[in-house]
Amino acid sequence: MPKHILSLDQGTTSSRSILFDCNAVAISREQKEFKQGFPQHGWVEHDPEIIWKSQLETIHGVIKSSGISVRDIAAIGITNQRETTVVWNRKTGKPVYNAIVWQDRRTAGFCKELIASGHEELVQHKTGLVIDAYFSATKIHWISNNVDGAKDQAKNGELAFGTIDSWLVWKLTNGKTHITDVSNASRTMLYNIETLEWDDELLTLFEIPGSMLPTVVDSSGNLAVTDESVLGAKIPITGIAGDQQAALFGQLCLNPGMAKTTYGTGCFLMLNTGKTIVKSNHKLLSTIGWKIGDEVTYAVEGSVFVGGAVIQWLRDEMNFFVEAADSEVLAEAADDNGGVYFVPALTGLGAPYWDADARGSIFGITRGTTKAHLTRAALESICFQVNDVLKCMDQDTDFPISTLRVDGGAAGNQLLLQFQTDVSRIKVHKPVTLETTSLGVAFLAGLGVRLWDMEFVTNSWEMDEEFTPVMIIEEANRLVAKWDEAVKRTIGWQE
Ligand code: ADP
Repeated sequence: MPKHILSLDQGTTSSRSILFDCNAVAISREQKEFKQGFPQHGWVEHDPEIIWKSQLETIHGVIKSSGISVRDIAAIGITNQRETTVVWNRKTGKPVYNAIVWQDRRTAGFCKELIASGHEELVQHKTGLVIDAYFSATKIHWISNNVDGAKDQAKNGELAFGTIDSWLVWKLTNGKTHITDVSNASRTMLYNIETLEWDDELLTLFEIPGSMLPTVVDSSGNLAVTDESVLGAKIPITGIAGDQQAALFGQLCLNPGMAKTTYGTGCFLMLNTGKTIVKSNHKLLSTIGWKIGDEVTYAVEGSVFVGGAVIQWLRDEMNFFVEAADSEVLAEAADDNGGVYFVPALTGLGAPYWDADARGSIFGITRGTTKAHLTRAALESICFQVNDVLKCMDQDTDFPISTLRVDGGAAGNQLLLQFQTDVSRIKVHKPVTLETTSLGVAFLAGLGVRLWDMEFVTNSWEMDEEFTPVMIIEEANRLVAKWDEAVKRTIGWQE
């Protein structure tokens, strides 16, 4: 009886595979970075064949290093960079263009036109999303209109569209299965998150033939089976979820009101809203968390573009320190921020501001300002931004958030987590396992193949550390008010 779960985590800069044993303990990991394509200013592309190759290499890598046989794998779970768009020819299996990555801004002009012609409310109502180049729909539209012959081929049913999960399943099944899970579908701007169907009105708006689209499946269950020619065995694929949704599941935020944030390059907050689709007044996104059986779990999401990346910038461009983790030691050298506020709008501001024209700004510098103050201000800026999203979640939903579960690289920074709890006045919980994305989809896959049950999964979350507020509330309020003022002065800088 096979007892291992293989998690595939196909990310923006690397492909990873993690093998979990029957106790959901990671026993082997492989990671492979791949090339990013920047063909023009604001464009970001990946070669889909290289994505597949790098993913496949990591699969072979974990099998080899763990010493197990392919037949010991009970099931595969797939989690992926979301929204990134691949269009391929159904017959040849060849992509007609590179994958257009979620970060790619080439369709921003088209999005502005759609907003100007009054489509925003329709799109938000149906998909839970704001009209933005981030999502797949305008990327498919671009490929259709800019790749020679693509439009006609699409009309004739010759082309397939998929996000990266679909692409990997297509490859793993040797072209037999064209599916995506609900969480990934909900990021395309084509999927009605209430009726759970591809939406004809939106397909017409984006000029996308329905024949291009994958079949939408649950996030857990018997979703597909790998072709024997690919890995040497038929292995069921029983879990699929977009990366942030997988992380929410991996943090076991399974009940309404439970929230997580990932402190990575950006910060990604998600709040489980149960059966409720939240209509945000602050441009937070409503999305599908997962669907298991007949039950759909919704979530509300807010993404901060520059989180840990501000520390990377201080490290690589300002040469303040050698390792990102050294930022904590340097920040500790200052008692407080010395009146310095750093709004790291290096690529504009994400939720809840969505201001592409904001640019990074530092306020309150005096003759006494040191690197320590600037570093502290940078770390604090990550928390202020997360706090901004938390405040909106609080206002937009009926779920009071009492605890925030955290993960991601910068969650290793104690000063940051303490400041988060201080300004947000909620408990911050750091789990023992920080690989929550891979773990989340391993749980979905393990449930799907009935290796684990819900009780096992729920008992798998273990806390490493809890952070609770120590700063007096008046001081926290003063700092937040000052931050708000700094953001105000940053908005619209480029206009
Ligand atoms: P991603 O998955 O987005 O590549 P990671 O979760 O690996 O990101 O986190 C890396 C980010 O976190 C980098 O931007 C880095 O600067 C930041 N980071 C890592 N460790 C720390 C730390 N101890 N303190 C502050 N920031 C950190």
